[in-house]
Amino acid sequence: MSTTTTVPIRTATPTPPKREVASTREDFPILKRMIHGSPLVYLDSAATTQKPEAVINVLVDYYHQTNANVHRGLYALAAQATDKYEGARAKVAKFIGAGETEEIVFTRNTTESINLVAQSWGTKNLKSGDEILVSEMEHHSNLVPWFMLAKRTGAVVRHIPILDDGTLDLSKWNERFTNRTRLVALTHVSNVLGTINPVPEIAEMVHKHGALLLVDGAQGVPHMPVSVATLGADFVAFSAHKMLGPTGVGVLWGRRELLEAMDPFLGGGDMIRTVSMTAATWNDLPWKFEAGTPNIADVIGFGAAIDYLESIGMTEVRRHEIELTEYALEKMHSVDELEIHGPADPQLRAGVISFNHSDIHPHDLSTYLDRKGVAIRAGHHCAQPLMERLGQTATARASFYVYNNREDIDTLIDALQSAGRFFGRR
Ligand code: PLP
Repeated sequence: MSTTTTVPIRTATPTPPKREVASTREDFPILKRMIHGSPLVYLDSAATTQKPEAVINVLVDYYHQTNANVHRGLYALAAQATDKYEGARAKVAKFIGAGETEEIVFTRNTTESINLVAQSWGTKNLKSGDEILVSEMEHHSNLVPWFMLAKRTGAVVRHIPILDDGTLDLSKWNERFTNRTRLVALTHVSNVLGTINPVPEIAEMVHKHGALLLVDGAQGVPHMPVSVATLGADFVAFSAHKMLGPTGVGVLWGRRELLEAMDPFLGGGDMIRTVSMTAATWNDLPWKFEAGTPNIADVIGFGAAIDYLESIGMTEVRRHEIELTEYALEKMHSVDELEIHGPADPQLRAGVISFNHSDIHPHDLSTYLDRKGVAIRAGHHCAQPLMERLGQTATARASFYVYNNREDIDTLIDALQSAGRFFGRR
């Protein structure tokens, strides 16, 4: 079976031509759409990003030219599909600086990647009374799997609070660790506050206490250069759809020795080496964790999204977001009715700005802005404990990516001012 072949990380992929961030807009067909008679201003990339033509073309081309199941077929088409699928894995490994391609497991999304660790690592390694530490700014994806694990094993979930400025209260870290702390599950970047957590320092602290660190990279990996070696984490989870790739593809990166020692997550085809009528043995990494036919086309599309991001350069992606965030914060501060959450310094935050309007509920604001073609998110953003900490039931949230520009922010500000006048009159 070809699945036992080791796939080397491809270091010799040709460097794609450099792309200017200012010209990326043209590459996204959806941005030509009109919404309620106005050009679409898409400010919800923290929920999901738009897809460049290059990714869409790769998906269409795959179904036109290469469609076949992977790992099994002995014919040319199947070998080509397998090559492209495993080639995408090698691109992901290189993109996050993983030491080995086998450390990249494809899942459906960040949520599934975290559940995989909770199930396969947690069930085996946690006992009653063991402790898992999370923070007050986590997405439900990085809370609920641990609650479920705690229920199964008798482990306890404890949390680290945040400060009023939206950063972690690091002074509370040492006192939260006990000799029962086994795992810290922490987001790299908050999907509400935009806060970038100092993961490398935290990793050091976690390891000093003999625990492991899982990083929810859903809002980190897409927006800045991330190397798993520099992060110092033991597991990192992220989603393709938040970084220009298709929906339905997630990544779990884990240190090889941890993944090796874990039991499979799901059982079925492709994840086995042998099966008898009474037992089975498992395939090698990473296929041990990829039961059944994977999401072949979308994984290959994800590879194209990585090529696209690399053609801009992640340092440039980050620089562009800092510039936009700085501009947006300055403009938003000029609207008196807005309360802006999260750190004030754009260097300490990603391109995500949550806010509340003193006179308008976030849902009404979002609905009003939609009438002007501006797509922002409103709600609890799957972070209800954080909403409670902020004293809100919901916030409005604008989030940026490579295709946004200052004009988008100007349109947002105009629409916010117009909303103030509209609701103020009623
Ligand atoms: N973690 C964070 C910080 C997120 O922002 C999100 C999605 O918004 C997730 C996890 C879950 O991602 P997915 O829905 O792709 O599993």
